Amino acid sequence: MGRGPLSPEDFARLHFISDPLCDRCGVPLDYRTGDETWCVVCLARPPRWDRARAALVYDETSRRPVLDLKRSGRRDGLPALTGWMRQAGSVLIEEADVLVPVPLHYTRLVVRGFNQSGWLAQTIGAETGRRVLVDGLVRARRTPSQAGLAGRARRRNVSGAFRVRPGRKGLIEGKRVLLIDDVLTTGATLSACTRALKQAGARHVDVLVLARVVRETDVTI
Ligand SMILES: [Zn+2]
Repeated sequence: MGRGPLSPEDFARLHFISDPLCDRCGVPLDYRTGDETWCVVCLARPPRWDRARAALVYDETSRRPVLDLKRSGRRDGLPALTGWMRQAGSVLIEEADVLVPVPLHYTRLVVRGFNQSGWLAQTIGAETGRRVLVDGLVRARRTPSQAGLAGRARRRNVSGAFRVRPGRKGLIEGKRVLLIDDVLTTGATLSACTRALKQAGARHVDVLVLARVVRETDVTI
């Protein structure tokens, strides 16, 4: 498994997520009780998406490659990052008709010049031969940064913020969609994207991210 731009010490400290995990949200579990296991959070409040998988626990070590990608636009680590994602999401990728990244609002895209989730989706698409709809979803309105917001405020912040681009509906309807993002924190953004895709007729929506927050107290991004 490639370590990309990470030092051997940092690579050794990465916490890769492996079985047993929650079938629904991909959070690591202490033990597996049956063929299909849901964590207590998913049992109490099932997410909108069908299945989510993450390569890494989002923590102090995985934070650096995530921020390198998001803030400085460093692409040199991409093949390592997507290699880890392909391993965690192999079944989801295989079963997907189309990969769709979580979009930035165009004003943020203009300032930053790139969308890190789009890069991840395009790289995975190129490596696996899966179709990628980079502009399948649009942000219908600009939302303040999710940083520093707790779960309920995050959901309110992004509620209704996404829609399927009208010209792309025919490529979403009846399809199995795999949503791609860099980090899953509370899941509010990915939930809002799933809603938009299902409203446009997507038959099934899975989620694949590079890293996920495992405890809400770790929400610092
Ligand atoms: Zn779960």
